[in-house]
Amino acid sequence: MEEQQETLGSQCELPLKSIAKHDEWDNWQWQMRKRIVSAASLQNYLHLDSRRIAEMTLVEERFRTAITPYYLSLANPDDPNDPILRQALPETRELQMADYGKADPLSEEDDMPVPGLTHRYEDRALLVVTNACAMFCRHCTRKRIWHASDANVGETSISKMINYIRRTPSIRDVILSGGDPFTLPTWRLEHILKRLRAIPHVEIIRIGTRTPVTVPMRIDKELCEVLDRYGPIWVNTQFNHPNEITEEAAAAVDRLIRHGVCVNNQSVLLRGINDDPEIIKSLCRKLVRAKVRPYYLFQCDQVEGVEHFRTRVSKGIEIMESLRGHTTGFSIPTFVVDGPEGTGKIPVMPNYLISQSEQMSVLRNYEGVIVGYRESGERIETQNHRTSGGVSAILSGQMSAITPYESRRMIRRRLRATGTGL
Ligand code: SF4
Repeated sequence: MEEQQETLGSQCELPLKSIAKHDEWDNWQWQMRKRIVSAASLQNYLHLDSRRIAEMTLVEERFRTAITPYYLSLANPDDPNDPILRQALPETRELQMADYGKADPLSEEDDMPVPGLTHRYEDRALLVVTNACAMFCRHCTRKRIWHASDANVGETSISKMINYIRRTPSIRDVILSGGDPFTLPTWRLEHILKRLRAIPHVEIIRIGTRTPVTVPMRIDKELCEVLDRYGPIWVNTQFNHPNEITEEAAAAVDRLIRHGVCVNNQSVLLRGINDDPEIIKSLCRKLVRAKVRPYYLFQCDQVEGVEHFRTRVSKGIEIMESLRGHTTGFSIPTFVVDGPEGTGKIPVMPNYLISQSEQMSVLRNYEGVIVGYRESGERIETQNHRTSGGVSAILSGQMSAITPYESRRMIRRRLRATGTGL
């Protein structure tokens, strides 16, 4: 069997649940209150020597820490390269390589007609409604807004953003972002959704949140009922590694879906965490099993304090090559580079177009078969002159395809033809 069955990740590698009384563990506000916010307090859960604690404390002066007990419980404390720990724990390279990146690499603030609202694409607007997150992901693009403490955006600022949308009829798609909008009290989120829904030209509301990954208990009944009331709502979340797709996370996604919310995933390609074709393939398969659509695979942005996570663009291409044709089409995300200078998302992929004439396009598939595709209305007459073969023979109609002898599909065909295969 080529396809492997994926299982949901094990939960609670670390015995963190013991710090919760009764049903506290399943209460998102308890998880938020009990976030680990300093390297010093991490000592209670991880084997960290004093030098490492001192290094992390130094990093925290610039880029702070917050980790929910739930998320930390998914880590393997004995693995220094554990993908959960790598995304959550501060490390010295954030400071050492900080000046490689920019505070605002996507120039979001240059496209803000009112503070906190980015209007880049004609029909979409992105609103930053809080700087708080359940966890501060070390690779975050908006490290610049973490500041010293959590702060929801004030009512006056939110009203200014909503007024801008109201007087801009081209905006039909509004993205609530942050920080993490699901860290807002539900009543505050509802207050924003209600006003947006009252604007006739707002067709879609999207919410960017990592809470299904970092504190899935946040997706509670009260929140789901609010989202149901103001739909259609699309949630974009960010699972980066298969270990993050636990039973609790899958159940949170299920609750969203049962309340009419569509769930997409936007992974970030992270060096040493998921920059491996098999890890991304496994992640995408598990996402689909959990009914989440793998939407984007992002090249990690050129952010200050994030350089050590960045891969080369070629790594993303290599990963896409391993997915297309090798797994279910709708489980393949689009690999995008979010361009500098506010140029927006630019899709990048392996090249499948080999050559072209007016009559013929020459394509290659995932197996390496190179095939001619006749253009509409063209009758391919074999030209008199002989070519020396190869792609030019396909263009001239002398050959239909070049097929690798070892293609698994062709081997199956040969075995069937000789009666030795299925
Ligand atoms: S949840 Fe999103 S906004 Fe918050 S730190 Fe992580 S990546 Fe950044």
